[in-house]
Amino acid sequence: MVLYNIKTAYSRAACLKGKRMEKPVLMRLENVSKQYQMGEVVVEALKETSLNIYEGEILVIVGPSGSGKSTLLNLVGGMDKPSSGQIFFNGKELSLASDQDLTMYRRQEIGFVFQFYNLIPDLTAAENVALAAELVEESLMIDDALHGVGLLERSQHFPAQLSGGEQQRVSIARALVKKPRFLLCDEPTGALDYQTGKSILGLLDRVKRELGSTVVIVTHNTAIAAMAERVIRMRSGEIIEILVNENPLPPERIEW
Ligand code: ADP
Ligand code: MG
Repeated sequence: MVLYNIKTAYSRAACLKGKRMEKPVLMRLENVSKQYQMGEVVVEALKETSLNIYEGEILVIVGPSGSGKSTLLNLVGGMDKPSSGQIFFNGKELSLASDQDLTMYRRQEIGFVFQFYNLIPDLTAAENVALAAELVEESLMIDDALHGVGLLERSQHFPAQLSGGEQQRVSIARALVKKPRFLLCDEPTGALDYQTGKSILGLLDRVKRELGSTVVIVTHNTAIAAMAERVIRMRSGEIIEILVNENPLPPERIEW
């Protein structure tokens, strides 16, 4: 069943193998590994992985649970450091950065969208967004970010007063208010119904188009691959395939 889904998603997206991107490289991972020590056991979450991420692309990472998708995303986002290998961002070696530099990198360059939104429950929508805006020198206006996700009229509501889809829209506003170079999304539609999920994908696509952010989406849902310019398939801590999609579909035309 899963294989069937992958095949239809890829053929619908007319993915072509082995084609190079012409955009500038924003990040390069070289032979990056990540191990976790669990008592006596070493878990190899990511094995000798090399990858370019190009400026302004939408990159979708698919693969079964436990295949290393979140580990890869967290390394890209500076939330974690590799056990070995090198990561270059804009030509600078991120894998050598001090904790302080890594914090600055996360603040300045990264917007993160999580499956379960991770909003601060006792702050309003506007306050959640404002907190992120304060982290950068030049942010969007809070109201503009909330307007962008269609939630300006809910700005004084607390997360518990919002639906799942609305909370995810606030979390996207929180990410985009920083005008991030990277918008990193870990299962952003995983907790949402079909229509709401599609509207969230539409917003991610708009952030890419309007702010020029590079968007990386980790997902179980192989249909989402159809909106990507490139699709990475992972298995057991390794990238087993990278596909280039010549004709990404607008999110509203994706079906699953
Ligand atoms: P995915 O996102 O594809 O489901 P993950 O990147 O979360 O996969 O996990 C890859 C492997 O690394 C899994 O075996 C997982 O249990 C393990 N792992 C991830 N994070 C940690 C951690 N903080 N401590 C120990 N093991 C971890
Ligand atoms: Mg994960």
